Amino acid sequence: MGKYQPQRGTYDAYGGFLNCFNIVLNVLSEMAKQYNYKEIITPIYESTDLFIRSSGEGSDVVRKEMFSFKDRGDRDISLRPEMTAGVIRSVVSNKLYANADLPLKLFYKGPAFRYERPSKGRYRQFNQFGVETIGVTSYLSDVEVICLGYRSLQELGLLDVKLKINTLGNQASRERYNQALKDYFQDKIESMCEDCKTRFNVNILRILDCKVEEDQKIIKECPKLDDYLDDESKEYFRKVLEMLDQLNIPYEVDNTLVRGLDYYSGVVFEYHYSSPEGVNLGAVGAGGHYPNLVSEIGGPSLECVGFAFGIERLVTLLEDIIPETYKEPDLSVFIGHIGKEAIEHSLLLADYLRENYIDVDLTFDDKSLSSQIKLANKKNARLFIVVGEDEMKNYVYQVKDLSQKTQMAVSYCDLVDYIMEKLSPSINDESEDFENDED
Ligand code: ATP
Ligand code: MG
Repeated sequence: MGKYQPQRGTYDAYGGFLNCFNIVLNVLSEMAKQYNYKEIITPIYESTDLFIRSSGEGSDVVRKEMFSFKDRGDRDISLRPEMTAGVIRSVVSNKLYANADLPLKLFYKGPAFRYERPSKGRYRQFNQFGVETIGVTSYLSDVEVICLGYRSLQELGLLDVKLKINTLGNQASRERYNQALKDYFQDKIESMCEDCKTRFNVNILRILDCKVEEDQKIIKECPKLDDYLDDESKEYFRKVLEMLDQLNIPYEVDNTLVRGLDYYSGVVFEYHYSSPEGVNLGAVGAGGHYPNLVSEIGGPSLECVGFAFGIERLVTLLEDIIPETYKEPDLSVFIGHIGKEAIEHSLLLADYLRENYIDVDLTFDDKSLSSQIKLANKKNARLFIVVGEDEMKNYVYQVKDLSQKTQMAVSYCDLVDYIMEKLSPSINDESEDFENDED
């Protein structure tokens, strides 16, 4: 153990974890591109004020979880606790809405920072992938975003996704509901946690988000948002749910779902997944409709909808459910030499194969052939090519298939094609099918 360790709540990514991490990000990016979302990268830090304005003063994220500091120019800076605020700030700063056909569809990925108590699936530096649709004019944009999130999880192999959905209603409904909550919690708030006491004054809806068990019992009996929604809000929500039915996306309406950030209004949702052992890491992703953020930070009046996934939680689930994704990919070829003289030739051959997009490794230490085969197996190499005196003279190489324990002499000019065919799973599968058909 060295003198320095990673900071509390942070981690180093490598090996199988990183492999899975990259698969997750690739799949999510490719899916978003299928829906014609374009990537955007924004800074990791922004003015603290931006996050207070967007997430809301009363949100846990702003009150307790931000990494905030003054820079050397005395500016109040925060590491981003989420990406939506920065993306919308960028849309406004660069007037991206001006010369685009609305809605604007953007996706992002990268680290976010929250000063939280670290636990499984909860870090202080973690990664999010998310999308934002900016300039929503139809409930179908909400549906499209929910659908993208759901289909993306399925594409990752997470088939048993539980989608929880709720509506916070429009402004008028919300105000009437807030009053009802005030009346209900008035004489109960004294016995509740400190956070709830603050929420009671700053943003009472957040009380429903409380995770303290004792408080949960009180919250269970509180007035239901459903009873305070006006017809417009109900109709909008009904149309969203009906469309999800048509898309065959199962969901569960959860009237207690309110989400931790203040900017949502209308439809909100979370994706949950329990691992086979029943471990629930919390939501793997969440999002909703937010109508006022663009105008609140100085842009035109554009409604938006978006979601964010927590990459580490997805990786942890995949490690359990599809362990193959957690494995580093096999090495295609290991080149072994017989005698010191063959080492340089091996590197030349490696260079030729690598130029042809084949991944190759070899050793520059003079070792016996059997110890090189051991090394190749340790690196999970699929093929082993032998370079010795004859091979250097004739340019014909012995290619061993390390799993099937077969061997074949292949000339230099056929080598790339031969290796490609050996490594291509579809071609091998087809030939097996073919044989089966004949039985
Ligand atoms: P939670 O209720 O679990 O604290 P949240 O509501 O604060 O989540 P969001 O702000 O909606 O989370 O962020 C979107 C996603 O980012 C979450 O669904 C989760 O998967 C992930 N996430 C949030 N906080 C963390 C964290 N500290 N470490 C790892 N992932 C996180
Ligand atoms: Mg949180």
